[in-house]
Amino acid sequence: MMRHAVNGIPYYSFEALSACGEVINAIFTRLGGLSGLPFAELNVGRLVGDDAAAVEANHRLIYATLNISGKQVVTARQVHGNNVAIVSAADGDTVVPDTDGLITSTCGLSLMLRFADCLPIFLYDPQNRAIGLAHAGWRGTAARIAERMVSAMVEVVGSEPSKMIAGLGPAVGPCCYEVGPDVADLLRPGLKDWQAVVLPAAKNAYHVDLWEANRQQLMQVGLTNVEVSHLCTACHTDEFFSHRAEKESSGRFAAVMGIRKAV
Ligand SMILES: [Zn+2]
Repeated sequence: MMRHAVNGIPYYSFEALSACGEVINAIFTRLGGLSGLPFAELNVGRLVGDDAAAVEANHRLIYATLNISGKQVVTARQVHGNNVAIVSAADGDTVVPDTDGLITSTCGLSLMLRFADCLPIFLYDPQNRAIGLAHAGWRGTAARIAERMVSAMVEVVGSEPSKMIAGLGPAVGPCCYEVGPDVADLLRPGLKDWQAVVLPAAKNAYHVDLWEANRQQLMQVGLTNVEVSHLCTACHTDEFFSHRAEKESSGRFAAVMGIRKAV
């Protein structure tokens, strides 16, 4: 990934997606915003107990950094499920209920989701100029949201998976993501190489690699171009919010994807 900073606000973007020129793809950090402790600084979580005015101001800073209008941003009330919504211009400035994946082929519209350890999945179909952004923790991964996103783009937009470009952003890494046998059992089915995803740790404990699980899901449905960040949010709480590392006092950082209108 590449790290940028605009007016003191850092964000990361994927090399392959950025090379396409027209794609806005940004994963913000916790730095550069107005929230005080423990949500410092650029928290975009509206339901974590942070000061509402600071959270709204942080949204405006993010939109200004990317030079987009809040009226043309769609977000979702994320519930760790696998519902995917197709959105268009009429959905601008709305929050889609009960949804962890957003897809659009509307130029000028941006998608935004919120993260603190779960994996941001970016999908781009350059042929049809369509994008998808999803949120996948272990529940979304077990419910195969990455696969469902690609299927929806194939059905609705006519995407060819082999031509798509994907990016898997910062998330809690296998170094810091320990689960019990119940969660491990839910993650193995359907993965060709689950041994690379569910790694034995201590007795009755496993370390989970969300990047590898979702990379395998995308490869299994025909993608070949998948960029993986391998930046662990729990190892880097100086830069990212982490629910595992910070518990209930964790804020949320923003991931934004859009297609710029041709000028
Ligand atoms: Zn880690």
